[in-house]
Amino acid sequence: MNSFDNLLARAAAGRGALRPEELAVLVAARDPAERKALREAAYAVKLRATGPRAFLRGLVEIGNACAKNCLYCGLRRDNAATHRYMIPEADVVRMARSAFEMGYGSAVLQSGEIESEENTARIERIVRAIRAATAPDFAIVLSLGEQTREVYARWRDAGADRYLLRIETSNPELYASIHPADHSWKRRRGCLSDLASLGYQVGTGVMFGIPGQTALDIARDIDFFREVDADMIGMGPFVPNPETPMAGAPFDKTEALELALDVIAATRLHLHDCNIAAATALQVLAPDGRERALLAGANVMMPNATDRQYRADYQLYKGKPCLDETSGQCRGCLSARIARIGETVAWNDPGTPPHYAAKHGGGRAEP
Ligand code: SAH
Ligand code: SF4
Repeated sequence: MNSFDNLLARAAAGRGALRPEELAVLVAARDPAERKALREAAYAVKLRATGPRAFLRGLVEIGNACAKNCLYCGLRRDNAATHRYMIPEADVVRMARSAFEMGYGSAVLQSGEIESEENTARIERIVRAIRAATAPDFAIVLSLGEQTREVYARWRDAGADRYLLRIETSNPELYASIHPADHSWKRRRGCLSDLASLGYQVGTGVMFGIPGQTALDIARDIDFFREVDADMIGMGPFVPNPETPMAGAPFDKTEALELALDVIAATRLHLHDCNIAAATALQVLAPDGRERALLAGANVMMPNATDRQYRADYQLYKGKPCLDETSGQCRGCLSARIARIGETVAWNDPGTPPHYAAKHGGGRAEP
C-alpha cells in the first residue's frame, strides 16, 4: 500500500485519526487516481454513517439587512446596490411550514446579522409559531450570525434546535485579512461554544479558495471542526462578488470544484458521523456540483424554500442559482438529481447528525 492509500485506510478506520499535516496531503492531492481514491474512501465512510441518503433542509432567506461588513459578501452593510428586504413574520412561518409539508425534515432561517431587541423578539415569535405549525421532530435551524448567549438562549427556549455559524477560516490572521478590523474571530469562536453549551446542534464551516489560504490552513479547518465537536459542517468555495472589495480575487471554477470535492471528502474521512452539506454555491461551479459532493461524502442538500420575489435580493456571491424557480420546482429538481446518482431522499426525516445523537442519546433534545 502506498503512503496515500495508507492515509486513507487510517482515516477510514477511525474518527480523527490524521494529524493536520496528514490531512493537508489529502487536500493537496493533484494526481487524478489519488483524488478518485480519496472521494471513494469518503463515500464508503458516509455509507456506513448515514447510508445512500440525502437529507433536505429548506432554506428561507428571511431578510438581507446586515450590520456587518465582511469584505467578500454581497449583503455587507456598505453595499448600496442591494435593495434591502425583511419578510413579514407570517410569511416566514408560511414558508417554513410549506418546507415541512413538502417533506423536508428541517428548515433553516438565514439572514444578515442584526443585533437588536426588536429582531430578537421577532425571531422568538417566528420560531414559536413554526414550532406550533409543524411536527415536534421538524428541526428548526437558525443562521443569523453572532449574538449574545442570552439571545441564543431565548431562541433555543422558543424551540430552535440547530444553529449554523461558519467560522469562515480557523486561521485568525487569514480571518482578519477578509474582514474589517472590528470583526472578531475570537467572538465568533466564543459564539460556537455558547451554542453548544445551550444544547443546540451546532454547525460550522469555512470558505475555501480565500486568497492566501494554503492546504495546511484547510487541513487545520477540518481538524478545527473536530476540536469544537461540530455536529454539522457547511463549507463552500469563495465566489467573488462584483459588488464587494474582493471582486477581483482570482477564481477558477474548475479548480474550485475539484478542491471542494476533495475538502468534503477529507472532512468526511476525518469526522465520520457528522452531517456535511453539499453547499448551494457548488452549483455555481457546475450544474451537477452538489450531486458530485454527495458522492464525495456530503449528505445534506439545501433546496431554496424562499418565495421567488425575494431571491434576487439575497446574493451573497455571484451567480446564485434558481432565482426564477418556485419552491415546488426546487423540490422536484432536487429529488430528480438525487435519484440520478442512485441515492434516495430521506423525506420527512430531520436527519439528526449521528454525532449529536451519539453524544445525547438520540432524537431531538428538548429545549
Ligand atoms: N449573516 C450570517 C448568515 C448569512 S451569510 C453569517 O454571516 O453567519 C452565510 C455564509 O455565506 C457566510 O458564513 C459565508 O461563508 C457565505 N458567503 C458570504 N459571501 C460569500 C462569497 N462571496 N462566496 C462564498 N460564500 C460566501
Ligand atoms: Fe453579513 Fe453574514 Fe454577509 Fe458577513 S457573511 S456581511 S455577517 S450576511
